[in-house]
Amino acid sequence: MASPAPSLDLPPALHATHAGIWLAREDGSLTRMSRGEALSLAASTPLLLVNAPLIGARLGNPDLHGLDLLELFALLFPAQFAVPTVAGLARAMGLPAPESDEESARSIAKIAGEMLGWCGRTDWAEREGAWTALRQLERLRWSWAPLLDKRIAQPQTAERWLFSRLPVWEEEPPRPQPRTIAMPEEAVLARLAELTGAGAERREGQRDFARAAAATFAPRPFTREPNMVLAEAGTGIGKTLGYLAPATLWAEEAGGTVWVSTYTKALQRQLDREARRHYPNDADFRRHVVVRKGRENYLCLLNLEDALQGGFAGRAAVLAQFVARWAAYSRDGDMVGGDLPGWLPALFRRAGATALTDRRGECIYAGCPHFRTCFIERASHASQQADIVIANHALVMISAARGREANGALSRIVFDEGHHLFDAADATFAAALTGREAIELRRWVIGPETAARRGRRRGLAARLMDVASYDAEGAEAIDAAGEAARALPADDWLRRILEHAPEGAIERLLSAARDTVYARAERDGKDIEPGYGLEIDLAEIDGPLIDAATEAARALEALLAPLQRLGKRMVAVLELAPDWLDGPARARIDGAISALGWRCDLLMGWIALLLRMGGPADPNHVDWLAVDRVEGREYDIGLHRHWLDPTKPLAETVLKPAHGVLVTSATLRGGGDWDTAVGRTGATHMEMPPKLFAVESPFDFASQSEVLIVTDIKRGDLPALAGAYARLIEAANGGTLGLFTAIRRLRSVQARIADRLAQIGLPLYAQHVDPLDPATLIDMFRDDPRASLLGTDALRDGIDVPGESLRLVVLEGVPWAKPSVLHAARRQASGGPTAFDDRHVRARLAQAFGRLIRRADDAGQFVILSAAMPSRLLSAFPPATPIHRVPLDEAISRVRSRLGSAADIGLGSSHHLPGARIDEVK
Ligand code: SF4
Repeated sequence: MASPAPSLDLPPALHATHAGIWLAREDGSLTRMSRGEALSLAASTPLLLVNAPLIGARLGNPDLHGLDLLELFALLFPAQFAVPTVAGLARAMGLPAPESDEESARSIAKIAGEMLGWCGRTDWAEREGAWTALRQLERLRWSWAPLLDKRIAQPQTAERWLFSRLPVWEEEPPRPQPRTIAMPEEAVLARLAELTGAGAERREGQRDFARAAAATFAPRPFTREPNMVLAEAGTGIGKTLGYLAPATLWAEEAGGTVWVSTYTKALQRQLDREARRHYPNDADFRRHVVVRKGRENYLCLLNLEDALQGGFAGRAAVLAQFVARWAAYSRDGDMVGGDLPGWLPALFRRAGATALTDRRGECIYAGCPHFRTCFIERASHASQQADIVIANHALVMISAARGREANGALSRIVFDEGHHLFDAADATFAAALTGREAIELRRWVIGPETAARRGRRRGLAARLMDVASYDAEGAEAIDAAGEAARALPADDWLRRILEHAPEGAIERLLSAARDTVYARAERDGKDIEPGYGLEIDLAEIDGPLIDAATEAARALEALLAPLQRLGKRMVAVLELAPDWLDGPARARIDGAISALGWRCDLLMGWIALLLRMGGPADPNHVDWLAVDRVEGREYDIGLHRHWLDPTKPLAETVLKPAHGVLVTSATLRGGGDWDTAVGRTGATHMEMPPKLFAVESPFDFASQSEVLIVTDIKRGDLPALAGAYARLIEAANGGTLGLFTAIRRLRSVQARIADRLAQIGLPLYAQHVDPLDPATLIDMFRDDPRASLLGTDALRDGIDVPGESLRLVVLEGVPWAKPSVLHAARRQASGGPTAFDDRHVRARLAQAFGRLIRRADDAGQFVILSAAMPSRLLSAFPPATPIHRVPLDEAISRVRSRLGSAADIGLGSSHHLPGARIDEVK
């Protein structure tokens, strides 16, 4: 992208990190300034900066605004990737990345100049639409608009606007059911060889894995008894290609669809890349391989149109313009983890981004003017014709449970990252009657009730106007549902409950639940974090709560009845087929029936939960009451019900109806045995035993890694914990992933060490501190080998950072499970509480260790800051891994010396070791 920068008339550039604050002027001068000086300057004049929320967090003003280069990038290069740092933007623009904070401050204006230079270039690929978008942004007083006004020329012909340039999807006839075929072993291995490429080294482990995976696709012997294969393949086996070989072969020969389900977006991206090997032609690839996500991930064009036409105001309206620019160039319209930069919604403090998706199920299907270009519909139609559908566990389970996929599309399923199957089933088959859920249902039925609304929101009556005007009984049911929904919580429900003035049956129930939680919760922060969630099990419930539950159940039944009547009336309308019922209207009513069915299921789940209160315990379920809080601030209250064993509904609704299921993972046995894998995948509930297969990682863990258990950090000694993190990060020269089980401790450690590490050139990013989503933080961490990242458990799952950027993982202690009501119930039911807890910890250790060595040339160390680490848990690590119990000083010298030897193989060699040293962090 490099081109000579034009002369510019730009304001000064502000750069702030934990190490300091700098102001760079166009004449080349650089001033270090205080926080107060920077804030008052930024308030009086718009300054150039990169990533306003992050700079704002560094300066202590989250509302900081300026001429953010990221916003300029989003306008000029929609759907393109950039890491949201000065170095990241420099690289995206083809400029050398600055190596120090001073250089960063100076290069901001250069990067801005480079970007502005593109406005006049003929090879600017995303020109179409920019001039029109700029006119709208000018009207919204976007800060960059005056600087772009003369630079982006008016095109000679009018620009097509977004809604007329998106491709239209075509209806295709349903596929016949897959043919029954045999797949000879040689054919599977030949496909594997084709996928790995000519000249690739023949890997026996991968070939064995492909053979084992192929058994999934054999003809099913009995109804509801699928071929089930559980396959553990250590890191580096190449299991993705190992199962894509039989999967693509079966899909082509049999004419069927294989669903490949993952838990993390990182693996979805990897699959998307690897599947391309079989379809080198892009059009072919898109026809045969489709990525599917839940509806709530995609942009809803109708919501966007509403936002662009005045539904959004202020900063949210500016965001809508950027989203419209992006939508015109997006591959698939996926706003979460697709090609919309993860940092873009964060620049607007998330204002409006979620309102642009179809989160509340308000889609009007064929009644929508954008139905034929809708991203969601396009992905759904494409997947019916695809060979491979890449999806996630939750979507696969919901689709199977609701029977939404046509043509038996969920008949062959590969669950990669299968160690998450239990947790995904746990979340999918749970019921939660909470304030937030209930108000969503109210809005879905009634629609907006106040003028202060954001986006297009319509209630049931407006969405089904044609049914109501045709069918009197349907109209009566809609009115009755609207009336009954007033028992659900309304706006400001939480405030009313906190003021002990609840309104309506459900608010009264939540208020009684909250009183019970506060009365019974025995600890606030001994084992669980203070100021965070409180919960109690739903047992021995007393009078006021039972009365409230009875009243609430009656209110929900009063809502359920008309919704069920309405569903029946719509089925009747479809059968009567009146004149006005053309294809689109039929499709819309079909969609409405399925949305209604989903709401009725939800209500039935809630009613069952309420009716059981006060009665005998249900051995299959665990029920509890919870008050959700962040730092002492309440944000939700509710009743929860989970399956004691969520693999039961998984087996009934997903596994048994399928013909073949492969469950695979690098840590399927969780560092334990096959019983764990069989129990946590649902295989235990199948008639036919699963085929079991395991292959060890080819990596040389003895020389590539080591585990260091630090023996002299006392539990609860925060200064010592922070000091240990700082010294270890310093010894590794960054490249460290620090994992915590408690947000509070993560924040305390970050606050103690961030500035001091920054002083020696080691940036530290932190989940729950930096105002960015985890995926963006991982991008920033991956992009800078000197950076380190602190995060909680969720981060551990999603991170895939091969190579130099990740060379040290530090755990703050033994990752015991949070002592929740649900965990306690499962532990008690397990028959062996210690073994149950051990399995949990082993699985977490194995997964965290798995982040470290991703390739044959990776090397790294794994540190656990806990003297009390039981030896019996060490089987979580690959058998050859050296494990040492050492004091902190020795751990640090081992990290330093390993980094020195790693320099011989290129690790850390390009970065100088800072001379400064952190010994104590108080
Ligand atoms: S079809 Fe539904 S999801 Fe798609 S744009 Fe229209 S309303 Fe939105």
